[in-house]
Amino acid sequence: MAFHSDNVHLDEDGYTQLDFRSRGTLRTLVNSKKGSCAGCRTIAVISGILCLILLTVTAVLGAMGTLSISRSCPSDWLKHRKSCYLFTDTQESWYVSKRKCSLWNSSLLKIDNADELEFIDEKVDLQKTKSFWIGLSRKDKEAPWLWEDGSGISPELIDVKPTPAPQNASHNCVWIHQSIFYDQLCSHVSYFICEKRLVM
Ligand code: CA
Repeated sequence: MAFHSDNVHLDEDGYTQLDFRSRGTLRTLVNSKKGSCAGCRTIAVISGILCLILLTVTAVLGAMGTLSISRSCPSDWLKHRKSCYLFTDTQESWYVSKRKCSLWNSSLLKIDNADELEFIDEKVDLQKTKSFWIGLSRKDKEAPWLWEDGSGISPELIDVKPTPAPQNASHNCVWIHQSIFYDQLCSHVSYFICEKRLVM
């Protein structure tokens, strides 16, 4: 490899730029000159790695919903026990409802116990003309009803009443209307209930 001294240049930062030419192939390497900035680059690399790790952890926690937990309910949300609830004024399909709850750092409603069911019944009964999507769905009509976290329903708590489905269609999503749970076509638009967990 031939080294050409006329290819040695100092840039504005005091770095040395060396051009190496070997058998017609040009390779340019930039190396740090001796001095304090050799350490600067090491620090920059370590900082970059730490930032990358932090971003990854944040993304993972966000995906797990951990960061959606807060200590107080946003305005327009109702607080009950350890959750905040939003009864929407707009109507969407089940899938869009799910996505919107997620955008608001929450999930479609999951009814965990009799106390929560009583609270929800009380609220939906005040809006007798409205149906509300909840976070209950199934893959097909033979599959079990599952909450958004993958858990099944308690039969003593939730009874989903079947409604007539069009031919070749399956009602795989659930809404609540006047305290009764009905299966419905997921593409129907309806009001929906989002739930956000609180740190107590
Ligand atoms: Ca719940």
